[in-house]
Amino acid sequence: MRMIAATNNPDKVREIREILAGTGLEVISQREAGIAMDVEETGTSFEENALLKARSIHARTGGLVMADDSGLAIDALGGAPGIHSARFAGEGAGYPEKIARIHAMLEGVPESEWTARFICVVAVVRPDGSAFTVRGTCEGRIAREAAGTNGFGYDPVFYLPEFGRTCAQLDPDEKHRVSHRGHALRAMLTRFRCEGLVTA
Ligand code: IMP
Repeated sequence: MRMIAATNNPDKVREIREILAGTGLEVISQREAGIAMDVEETGTSFEENALLKARSIHARTGGLVMADDSGLAIDALGGAPGIHSARFAGEGAGYPEKIARIHAMLEGVPESEWTARFICVVAVVRPDGSAFTVRGTCEGRIAREAAGTNGFGYDPVFYLPEFGRTCAQLDPDEKHRVSHRGHALRAMLTRFRCEGLVTA
């Protein structure tokens, strides 16, 4: 079964493919589907933005479409950067700048309160236009120093106490077992199995 991933983020496409490998779902990126557009994320929640992206692409392609809206929520910052994670610290800011901004904002907050989570909402639009969302989370802490080169985005600064490492120091398989994206996509697969869309 083909499923279009409504994203222009190659890191997300790679992770979605890795997580769904062996399920019989063939993941086609938005670019491979011939859609060159950036859907404006005007929603006020991960769910709204994920549905916006999936519905916009579905309107052009039909078929089975999924979108991933995700981000990092830091408790001491009231959940920031949250849905604004991709554009945090200004349009065009790189991750070293984003991470430096986080550390600056956390100055004065005791490190014991640097708890955070990654959140991923996957929205699915079925061929008939009906839709659902699922959410996955991954609990961790903000690391004092960025470390590791795997993964993408905020992974070097997201520390997982159960591994004693940052997300960027995990192998892809280790990350996917505990990640927000891994949890959300496995919840999506559970729905698909109930509906007979996948058998693996
Ligand atoms: P979106 O395109 O609005 O969903 O933005 C997602 C943003 O959240 C990414 O650009 C990253 O900044 C961050 N993010 C989401 N998932 C991850 C992850 O697995 N690791 C690190 N950063 C992530």
